[in-house]
Amino acid sequence: MANVLEYLKAEVWKKMNVLLSFDVEEFDLPREYLIYISEEEMYLQSYRGLLRILDLLDKYKLKATFFVTLNFAKKYPELIREVSEKHEIGCHGYSHIDNYNKKGTERISDAKKGIEKIIGKKIYGFRAPRGNCPGFRELSKTGFVYDSSLHPVFIPGRYNHFLESRRIFKQNNIIEIPWATSTFLRLPLFGFALRNFGGLGYAKIATKLYKLNFAVLGFHPWEFIEISQKVPLYTKRNSGDKIFNVVEKYIGWCLSRGYKFKSCYDYLKDENIIA
Ligand SMILES: [Zn+2]
Repeated sequence: MANVLEYLKAEVWKKMNVLLSFDVEEFDLPREYLIYISEEEMYLQSYRGLLRILDLLDKYKLKATFFVTLNFAKKYPELIREVSEKHEIGCHGYSHIDNYNKKGTERISDAKKGIEKIIGKKIYGFRAPRGNCPGFRELSKTGFVYDSSLHPVFIPGRYNHFLESRRIFKQNNIIEIPWATSTFLRLPLFGFALRNFGGLGYAKIATKLYKLNFAVLGFHPWEFIEISQKVPLYTKRNSGDKIFNVVEKYIGWCLSRGYKFKSCYDYLKDENIIA
């Protein structure tokens, strides 16, 4: 009996799909705290982090989703084109300072078209900077198929989506694929949480409590380069090598458990959620 249970448990876990996602953007975090950072430094922090991530994914032959701002894609068009050959590219807005709660969707459409022009292919997914999504009705006018902006947790000072769905749902023709949070306590599984709440041990517990067959993990390339600016400690804690090593070990742990790594789009297709 015990063996059967073990077997069934293993079969359930094998179905887990880890959807690594990276928000490729201008590193404007210091400006949020009124700390000066030059344009060049903002791009460089993310650029250097992106190269590290790409190497890591290559090493384990994993596919992921990169939500890029049009500004970043314009700055490094060759690199983004190269990323699009192995991974999925989504849209993270025109500029990272955009707040789509206030502005219309015109800039989102421009961003989508601009990025598509740079990579020479269609993009399907959107993620709003700072989770400020314009809403499904507005988004449906822009031609996106899915959105991955909803983070169903409470982040003081930013948003409270604690009671929102952890599951995939559809509204106004847009499929929402929320960020990973666990059952019960809604332990989030993203870069900030991994850096502040105990690294690998925390990530394993949160993943085990996830209980769905997909987990969208969100990171920022700039986290993987040590943050030197005088931003609050919780925003830069364990950045650079520390979070990089945690993510590498987490990938190894997931692979050892038979989890699959996919882009958001491939997962939605494989599950027949999109045709
Ligand atoms: Zn962002």
